[in-house]
Amino acid sequence: MNCCQECGREFASPQLSPFTDAPCPGCQSHHTSFVSGDQLDIAFVEVEEP
Ligand SMILES: [Zn+2]
Repeated sequence: MNCCQECGREFASPQLSPFTDAPCPGCQSHHTSFVSGDQLDIAFVEVEEP
């Protein structure tokens, strides 16, 4: 899920990567932030190993 910082609208990211900044479908603003969803933890796991 993405959350628009301009109008507060929450929408599902249309991109394959949920971390890609997606324009708000309501106001077309790119000021959106990623909001953790249910299945995203499995889809994208950031692992840092030395
Ligand atoms: Zn918006």
